[in-house]
Amino acid sequence: MDWRDGGLCLWEDPDLFFPIGNIRSGRTALQIDEAKAVCHRCPVARQCLSWAVDAGPVEGIWGGTTEGERRAMRLRAMRRRAEAAA
Ligand code: SF4
Repeated sequence: MDWRDGGLCLWEDPDLFFPIGNIRSGRTALQIDEAKAVCHRCPVARQCLSWAVDAGPVEGIWGGTTEGERRAMRLRAMRRRAEAAA
């Protein structure tokens, strides 16, 4: 069974996980919070986040994170690898 088959988002409106607009605007921020709340209850959130980080830039909320948050995670991981190699 693929981890995606266990995602709670399968039972939600898919649009919830793909907010449009400025993430700092009230309505979009509320949508992001609502999507993240689903992810935080999701039994496959860890696998989902790992996939999304490894996949590179992907739109939407995955594993309880925005693309901006995942980009920051990738940068931190790159810095850690560079420091370990130095
Ligand atoms: S963590 Fe969120 S986006 Fe990922 S499968 Fe679960 S509910 Fe869906």
